[in-house]
Amino acid sequence: MSPRHHPAPDILAAYASGTLDPGFGLVVGAHVEGCPVCRKQSAAFEAVSGEALAALPEAALAPDALADAMARLDAAPPIHMPDRRPLLARLVLKPRKWVAPGVWCAAVDTPHAPDNRVYLLSVRAGMPTARHSHSGQEFCTVLKGAYRDELGTFAAGDFAATGGELEHQPVTLGDEDCVCLFATEGRLKAQGLIGRLAFALADV
Ligand SMILES: [Zn+2]
Repeated sequence: MSPRHHPAPDILAAYASGTLDPGFGLVVGAHVEGCPVCRKQSAAFEAVSGEALAALPEAALAPDALADAMARLDAAPPIHMPDRRPLLARLVLKPRKWVAPGVWCAAVDTPHAPDNRVYLLSVRAGMPTARHSHSGQEFCTVLKGAYRDELGTFAAGDFAATGGELEHQPVTLGDEDCVCLFATEGRLKAQGLIGRLAFALADV
C-alpha cells in the first residue's frame, strides 16, 4: 500500500537539494524509497536545481584551469561506486537497548551527523509509549506496523514531522510490533517517571 503521510514540499525540496541535516535526510530517504509520489516529486526538484545551476552565468576559465583539474583528478583517490543497497540495509546500528517492557531502541551510527540523534525504536503491539513533548524538530518514518497519535494514524511507509510544540503519546495499532526510524533535534522531554526513566535508559 502506498504511504498516505508525506513530507511537506519544503522538506522534500531540501532533501532533493541535499541541504537537510544528514540524519534527517536519512529519515526522509526511508520514506522516499518506498513512496512513488515523493520519488517523482524529489526527481522534479532535483531537475529544477540542476536547471538553476545551468542558468548561472559562465565564468571565464583561467587558461590552465583544465590542466589543473585533470592533474587533481589523477591525484584523487579512486571513485567509489554509489552503494545501491536499500537504505535500511545500509544503516549501521549500535547495540539494541531494551528501555521498557516490549520497547527497544537502537542508535543509528551517523558519522556525518554527530549532532543528530538518529535511532530505531520498536514498540510491541498494543503497548503505549510514554507521553512526551519535544524540544526541537523530529522526523519519523514508520518501517513496520502502525501507530496512532494526536496527528492521525501512521502505517508502514508513512512520514511524520513534528515540531517543538507537540506533546503526544503514540499508541501502537494492530498485532504487529511498530518499528520507526527517527531523527530528533534536542532531547525528548518525557512526562511522568516511567517515561523519563525509559528515555534516560535509551539515551535519546
Ligand atoms: Zn511520499
